[in-house]
Amino acid sequence: MTRTRTPSRAGWLRAMAVGLALVAVACGGGADDATTTTTAAGGAPAQAPEHPEGSTMAQVQAAGTLRVGTKFDQPGFGLKRATTGEVEGFDVEIARLIAEAIGPEVEVEFTESPSAVREQLLENGEVDMVVATYTINDARKERVGFAGPYYVAGQDIMVPAGNPLGIEGVDDLNGKRVCSVGGSTSVENVRTMAPEAQVTEFDVYSKCADAMGDGRIDAVTTDNTILLGLIEKSGGKYELVGNPFTTEPYGIGVPKDDVEFRNFINDTLEDLYASGEWADAYERTLGQFVDEIPEPPEVDRY
Ligand code: GLU
Repeated sequence: MTRTRTPSRAGWLRAMAVGLALVAVACGGGADDATTTTTAAGGAPAQAPEHPEGSTMAQVQAAGTLRVGTKFDQPGFGLKRATTGEVEGFDVEIARLIAEAIGPEVEVEFTESPSAVREQLLENGEVDMVVATYTINDARKERVGFAGPYYVAGQDIMVPAGNPLGIEGVDDLNGKRVCSVGGSTSVENVRTMAPEAQVTEFDVYSKCADAMGDGRIDAVTTDNTILLGLIEKSGGKYELVGNPFTTEPYGIGVPKDDVEFRNFINDTLEDLYASGEWADAYERTLGQFVDEIPEPPEVDRY
């Protein structure tokens, strides 16, 4: 069994719509072709919004491209398909919806952003924003700004199916071979909360999943929804312990002092919550692994 849940009829219809949109992209257009198609089908053509002169939104609109850092190996959030080169997932959808709010013609260019390089990519101006299962916290706010949160996860543990070592929570990781990713809150948390764990750090979570498949480690720890995507991909080889021990509010990283862009993204998120587009994006991505669509979290305009 590869799916824990059969998509609803509406889910299938949406999946088909996404498939059609991908065909449009594959036929030479950009992500916004899908947007334009949707808008045209819905009636009036989309108007190009007006942005304050000199703002990031105005610059992105003029460039026609929003440069976004995301994950490429996290099913459900950000996954790049080896066969088609397409990226998909909730983070990808959120990024596309923000691009659409900047301007109907704006395309999204995705750059892989492993956990340890997210701040650096923003500081170097290599991307305009990062949407990459990126927990908002004070240490990171020293270097980047955060819009959102747009989702709240919790750190959990993934073990081989059947849980052979009987790992029930973070305390049980002491003395075990545990894998996580450098530069993540997950690895910091496990080092603090299970100081006797033998921690292996990789740059991306899929390498942890592979290492567990080879028996090189006993458990993988990071956010529950990331783990659920990896479990889905494992086809039943792995399972979730299901005992989250942290709160991980996901934000959209922007350059630290770009408050105008941060506010614009916050306004956009609130619009997406109100219009139901956030819930639709959730249903066609993470909704494939998780039964309930949660309420979107309240935006924090710090
Ligand atoms: N949300 C956590 C973080 O931002 C873990 C997931 C990740 O590494 O992307 O560090």
